[in-house]
Amino acid sequence: MSGCCGPTSVELQPSTQAAQPDELPIVVIGAGPVGLAAAAHLAERNLDFVVLEAGEQAGASVAKWGHVRVFSPWRYNIDAAARRLLEADGWSAPDAGWLPTGAELIDDYLAPLAKLFGDRVRLGAQVSAISRLGYDRVRTAGREAAPFLIRLADGSELHARAVIDASGTYATPSVLGASGLPAHGESDAADLVDHALPDVLGADRDRYAGRHVLVVGAGHSAATTLLALAELEDTPITWAIRAGNAARTYGGGEADALPARGALGTRLHAHVTFGRIRLVTGFFTHSIERAIERDGEQVRVISRDSSGAEQTITAERIVAATGYRPDHAIAGELRLDLDPVLGSTRALAPLIDPNAHSCGTVPPHGADELAHPEAGYYAIGVKSYGRAPTFLLATGYEQARSVVAALAGDWEAARDVQLELPETGVCSSSLAEAQEQRVGLAAGIGGGLLSTPLPLATVSASDGGGCCG
Ligand SMILES: Cc1cc2nc3c(=O)[nH]c(=O)nc-3n(C[C@H](O)[C@H](O)[C@H](O)COP(=O)(O)OP(=O)(O)OC[C@H]3O[C@@H](n4cnc5c(N)ncnc54)[C@H](O)[C@@H]3O)c2cc1C
Repeated sequence: MSGCCGPTSVELQPSTQAAQPDELPIVVIGAGPVGLAAAAHLAERNLDFVVLEAGEQAGASVAKWGHVRVFSPWRYNIDAAARRLLEADGWSAPDAGWLPTGAELIDDYLAPLAKLFGDRVRLGAQVSAISRLGYDRVRTAGREAAPFLIRLADGSELHARAVIDASGTYATPSVLGASGLPAHGESDAADLVDHALPDVLGADRDRYAGRHVLVVGAGHSAATTLLALAELEDTPITWAIRAGNAARTYGGGEADALPARGALGTRLHAHVTFGRIRLVTGFFTHSIERAIERDGEQVRVISRDSSGAEQTITAERIVAATGYRPDHAIAGELRLDLDPVLGSTRALAPLIDPNAHSCGTVPPHGADELAHPEAGYYAIGVKSYGRAPTFLLATGYEQARSVVAALAGDWEAARDVQLELPETGVCSSSLAEAQEQRVGLAAGIGGGLLSTPLPLATVSASDGGGCCG
């Protein structure tokens, strides 16, 4: 049976049958927003595919931060091919200007999209390794004609003619240790540490209310958690960052083309200014010690900088909002060309380097920049950015379109990359100028964290850098 999205069921090739690569499906790893966008483009081009999703629902990683309202409105969050398929099925797009929560992103977009693809989206299918049938990483002759071999966590295997890896980075958060290695004692204190974006005002409230919480990290995840914590009464909050000031987190304010993103930083700045949040700068997490005090169990977090100078923060819980890392281990038998700094492809790295770019200044890029020496394997979506925190969905959707065009052999379309991104003023224009400006809450933001007007606050000196992490 076939409809707008091609056949509604797919026969997976057991690994014992050696089908010709052209007869095999393209495997998409991950049914997040970008994996499903790839599926939509594959469906439009009538290319056979199967999406393997580790979780039990489409958008399984997004579901983990379902309580968080995103900072880009719907108009930037819907892939064009997905929109066409959904609208042909009678779906109506949500209000283009509304900022959905992660949960709304799933309910109003990802779930109906995945439903269109029927059993071509396989849930509970965790990919544990990718290789080429009969080829380890070293063997060359005839390599490109060999099908990909995909092994799942349950031990089953399937073959594919190409692999689009959109598995994201959410399952592999970075460590607390300032040098990229786990802090001494970090694993022993694991039960007192949550990774970014706990549901502080909802399901996880009891873990935080009335406790002294330390938030470590300088990105938007840290900012989101800090703002939520600030709403809890009698909950002391300390915020520790490596930088000498927090101007990078405070971000673009009114100059940000995504007002919600600018407003997040502006509100945070006000909480620090008025003392609700205690900011500790120059904090390089070195070790973590558990301690039983009169008031119960506490955790001592010790910073040691390059001169050996120490600072200590004692808290009751820690939120580690230190970013994410791509897991390239599943593709360890493939020939990857990874940038030594970011872990993206080397061609992509200079285009997304957070030292030079914000989300809004990333130039269009596609199949050429995402290609590895392993022909037919592409990592797209937030995983493609490696450790760069500047990813936006709109970028991932254009990656998906371009990569699928390349796999279809339509190189003209693959190379016609176009991208319109919302810019961030502070990140993309003169920092010195931005530092002179007074920023306030941008108007017209509905709902949630962003609805309360704030007094104007002056932005302090900045050390620059990216702003979307
Ligand atoms: C709190 C938060 C807010 C954000 N807000 C915005 C915003 O406002 N605007 C914006 O443009 N971007 C935003 N982003 C950034 C980015 O768009 C999202 O992270 C987005 O979810 C990335 O989509 P993705 O499809 O690449 O990866 P993910 O959404 O992470 O999806 C990856 C999928 O792969 C699955 N998976 C992982 N490993 C495997 C495996 N081995 N086998 C099979 N399946 C696997 C996961 O279960 C998951 O479903 C935000 C990110 C966060 C964390």
